[in-house]
Amino acid sequence: MSRDYPNNRERDFDTDDEGPGGQFQGPGRGGAGGGRGAAGRRSRRRKICRFCIDKVDLIDFKDVRLLQNYIPERGKILPRRLSGSCATHQRMLAEAIKRARNIAFLPYVVG
Ligand SMILES: [Zn+2]
Repeated sequence: MSRDYPNNRERDFDTDDEGPGGQFQGPGRGGAGGGRGAAGRRSRRRKICRFCIDKVDLIDFKDVRLLQNYIPERGKILPRRLSGSCATHQRMLAEAIKRARNIAFLPYVVG
């Protein structure tokens, strides 16, 4: 690689009036191609849908204890991102919860 940096050795410590401190140019600024996207991916282990595991194909709205797992204290339905259930089952779940609410098994709103 080309190693002619013109001001490589111009390191000025003990200049006290350096301005707003933003001027830090590291050695590899913009070089070392494609350093992007290496740090992403925070989902280490993917949550899998519980219902899929159990092969549930119909969520019973009378199963309040089950449904309550997906209703945090506010009374709202837990979003899929948190519940980890798949689209199909999340939908069923929402449906079941709504039904359960409708017949007053579960509250619409708590508090
Ligand atoms: Zn599922």
